[in-house]
Amino acid sequence: MLHRNKYGKFLLNKKEIFIFVGFMKTHFRKNIDSWRRDYNREYFWISTQDPYYIWLRETMLQQTRVNQAAAYFNSFIKSYPTVHDLAAADEDDIMKLWQGLGYYSRARNLHTTAKHIVEEFNGIFPQDYDSLLALKGIGDYTASAIMSFSFGKPYVTMDGNVIRLFARYFGINGDVSRKAVKDEILRLANEMMHSFDPSVFNQAIMDFGAEICKWRSPECGNCPLNEKCIAFNKGIVDQLPVKKKKALKRKRYFNFLVIRSNDKFVIEKRSDNDIWKGLFQFPLIESNKVLAYEEIKSKLTEELKLKETDIKVNEEHQEYKQVLSHQMIYARYWTIESYKDYKSRNCISVDKLTLSLYAYPKVIDCYLKDNILI
Ligand code: SF4
Repeated sequence: MLHRNKYGKFLLNKKEIFIFVGFMKTHFRKNIDSWRRDYNREYFWISTQDPYYIWLRETMLQQTRVNQAAAYFNSFIKSYPTVHDLAAADEDDIMKLWQGLGYYSRARNLHTTAKHIVEEFNGIFPQDYDSLLALKGIGDYTASAIMSFSFGKPYVTMDGNVIRLFARYFGINGDVSRKAVKDEILRLANEMMHSFDPSVFNQAIMDFGAEICKWRSPECGNCPLNEKCIAFNKGIVDQLPVKKKKALKRKRYFNFLVIRSNDKFVIEKRSDNDIWKGLFQFPLIESNKVLAYEEIKSKLTEELKLKETDIKVNEEHQEYKQVLSHQMIYARYWTIESYKDYKSRNCISVDKLTLSLYAYPKVIDCYLKDNILI
């Protein structure tokens, strides 16, 4: 019979839990330690203890693959080698450097927090968890990473790899998006960290989850933990961890107006509290469905106050799609010749060479590259 508790269900009965969990912890510690000794990933950005670098690295790694984040990390520390440099930077330059990494609020938060650390802490990172957590853009995971990797303090970095590994190994099948379930995993991880250097333990469990106990096709056959892993031994690896179903993505239809006037292009900065805040775009008409040519033409006069006699709208359009975590963006690009300078909605006119200096969302960057505009 399965044992149910407030964290969901452990896939063991009470007697099994009593007997096996102690052995499992010892087995886990021993085998993770021996695995990580063989698995030597010597990247500079892994070995550094500088809290500024750890903060940048862990912020970039959220929702991003290691190889992609590493390239951005290197560009960042080249342009902004210290927190003082980042604090003094222009936000548009930071956004340009961040372009393509997504989740742009992370870049804005980095800038805000860098200024705060310089102004309030003289450029020195606080060394206690609660003070780190109070900084904009720093959550449990990043605060734990700074505490353990920079200051050697026992805080477990609970990223998706770690949660998946523990849920499978201990056979926890409660919904891991629930706080009680996460707290239980954290408790188990804390108990196992005690005989390790915190930074070594955290790196080992994150690497193990990413390389062996992968989301798809975990390497159970070669896994040094398989002897005691509950998910493996009960044949339910593909069922764990349990996550509540994601809500359907919201569909948005963006009609970008590529207005060319006297060999200049019109762009504007996104300033609303919405996706891509701080990035640039072509003037946008958002609609709740795909718009046809005639509908676009009437919107131009209604919403952008463009006179039909002053413009020529090309009937052809190009379509791009971008998938975000909660939204699907369907973008159409309409090219428009304007016989008059277009001035509206905080737009600016830039020439073709200057276009490349601004930061754009991926869906616009792709359009610009495909059309050899930058
Ligand atoms: S046996 Fe499979 S599921 Fe269990 S820890 Fe190893 S890789 Fe993960």
